[in-house]
Amino acid sequence: MTPPIADSVQTQQAESEVVDVRQTSCCIVGGGPGGAMLALSLARRGVPVTLLEMHKDFDREFRGDTIHPSVMEILDQIGLADKLHEIPHTKVTGPTIQFADGPFRPFDLGRLKTRFPDFSNSLPAKPPGIRNSN
Ligand SMILES: Cc1cc2nc3c(=O)[nH]c(=O)nc-3n(C[C@H](O)[C@H](O)[C@H](O)COP(=O)(O)OP(=O)(O)OC[C@H]3O[C@@H](n4cnc5c(N)ncnc54)[C@H](O)[C@@H]3O)c2cc1C
Repeated sequence: MTPPIADSVQTQQAESEVVDVRQTSCCIVGGGPGGAMLALSLARRGVPVTLLEMHKDFDREFRGDTIHPSVMEILDQIGLADKLHEIPHTKVTGPTIQFADGPFRPFDLGRLKTRFPDFSNSLPAKPPGIRNSN
């Protein structure tokens, strides 16, 4: 049912109401990986940063279930890799796809010369027909 016009106007006013005013020398809009990394880098260099994120939670289209070796190396460079590994996760070196004539491994991260030769995977569930290899 469509809300009465008066309700709709009140809702719009509530959404545009100014609830807080703060001074900052740097405001980053968007707390995704890009915004969060930039905010952390600037803050570590002593720049006062305000990071704004419009979502209050992660209850939306899921992304980021795997963290790739190159990303782990960046996280290691900024001192966050070990902390991240404290969070429960699984490690997989690549997918195994089941065909009628047997399993097929399209790639194997275990052959990479890196401290992190695998996907760090926070979700155990995989699409049907694909399973993790260790
Ligand atoms: C379905 C899907 C699955 C993915 N899975 C993986 C994966 O498993 N591993 C991986 O490494 N990468 C994955 N990616 C890619 C990864 O999500 C992106 O590379 C990464 O999120 C890009 O980061 P970003 O900070 O540039 O943008 P985003 O992550 O999009 O961050 C932008 C942020 O800005 C916020 N925002 C936007 N407008 C405003 C506003 N006006 N005010 C306040 N906040 C605002 C948004 O809410 C959002 O949080 C996936 C992408 C998709 C779409």
